[in-house]
Amino acid sequence: MRTQVGIVGAGPAGLVLSHLLHLEGIESVVLEARSREYVEQRVRAGVLEQGTVDLLRDTGLADRLEREGIVHHGIEIRFDGRGHRIALTDLTGGRSIWIYGQQEVVKDLIDARLAAGAEIHFDVEDVRLEGIDSETPSLHFILGGTDRRLDCDVIAGCDGFHGVTRGSIPNGVLREYHYEFPFAWLGILATVPPSTEELIYARHDRGFALHSLRSPQLSRLYLQVAPNENLNEWPDDRIWEELRIRLAMEGWNLADGPIIEKGVAGMRSFVVEPMQYGRLFLAGDAAHIVPATGAKGLNLAVADVRVLARALATWYRTGSADLLDAYSSRCLGRVWRVQDFSAWMSSMLHRYPGDDGMQGKLQLARLEWVTSMESAARSLAENYVGLPFDDELGV
Ligand SMILES: Cc1cc2nc3c(=O)[nH]c(=O)nc-3n(C[C@H](O)[C@H](O)[C@H](O)COP(=O)(O)OP(=O)(O)OC[C@H]3O[C@@H](n4cnc5c(N)ncnc54)[C@H](O)[C@@H]3O)c2cc1C
Repeated sequence: MRTQVGIVGAGPAGLVLSHLLHLEGIESVVLEARSREYVEQRVRAGVLEQGTVDLLRDTGLADRLEREGIVHHGIEIRFDGRGHRIALTDLTGGRSIWIYGQQEVVKDLIDARLAAGAEIHFDVEDVRLEGIDSETPSLHFILGGTDRRLDCDVIAGCDGFHGVTRGSIPNGVLREYHYEFPFAWLGILATVPPSTEELIYARHDRGFALHSLRSPQLSRLYLQVAPNENLNEWPDDRIWEELRIRLAMEGWNLADGPIIEKGVAGMRSFVVEPMQYGRLFLAGDAAHIVPATGAKGLNLAVADVRVLARALATWYRTGSADLLDAYSSRCLGRVWRVQDFSAWMSSMLHRYPGDDGMQGKLQLARLEWVTSMESAARSLAENYVGLPFDDELGV
């Protein structure tokens, strides 16, 4: 088998890249370890930045998003039993966020790629990379019990944090930056209409809580828990009771309902530098992880492949590798900005184990500032809806 760009991973990064390359007339083949059903049902992110929505719209992928996505013009920050609205759209000159599940984005992308005749191979096993430091890299894998080889010009590593592509880069090339937060999130999906119209980020002495949503009938809620929390100790009643305590506000009630999905996800910041080695380019979670508090992971994955698709298009069209050579540095500027914002939001809202009260007091001072000073609220809003891309700023 032969293609121009071999893509490992059919998550948002790999699928958006394949779509953008197709629009530029560049062929790609996507290899995915899981089944189509699995990736289309994997519940994860749900907050799309303005720039992500614009890209999906501009490239013809937003029909269902326009119909079923929910646009939000603000978020609420709740602490000390009081709610404060951050007016995202007013504070950012008209930018917003959209609520639309990651699995819906993935479904739309797979449908569009397959309708355009794309090759996406699901259920591939044992993907290995060879020759990434040469001009003829190749992907080796097992499909339907048969050994296969895919020769490519370039390989895109879009296989998430636990994928194989990053590990194919020789030792000593990458510098890894890693921080594990001393807490995790217990997330639930429940079939109950959300008790709020906008997301609620709550800081409480017992820990952080977030009321998010996926549709008018589906609520998504999170509780801060310990990193090694045992899910079996959290029957549904206990989850709802704890959510009620942490989200409590006079005159407001949290409606509960059947929990259809439950999981614990750790919180980490992780970055590798550079995001390229030879003919292998890493994108999305394969290169970086952000704590979920800033709702940025999916958006950052899309931002990476936007840069990569443009660089590859220029390379194929003109033979100039300048943009490809600059891929890593262009992405990392945004990656570190987003890391900082996500860590800042996380440290403002979570209870730190062992805090003797000092951290809590500092958090409250910061929260008062963010919710009472327009300049501080604007800064949060600008980061939350997503900063403009370099090329929009003319950089
Ligand atoms: C609970 C949770 C909540 C989140 N909430 C948000 C949010 O609100 N907003 C937000 O923006 N982000 C959020 N994120 C982060 C977001 O989901 C990720 O950042 C996003 O999925 C990254 O996309 P990706 O394509 O880089 O990686 P992934 O989505 O992880 O896709 C990688 C793909 O590669 C495949 N793969 C892995 N190994 C191999 C292999 N060896 N061979 C072939 N294929 C392989 C995987 O099966 C997967 O399909 C959340 C994440 C979690 C876990």
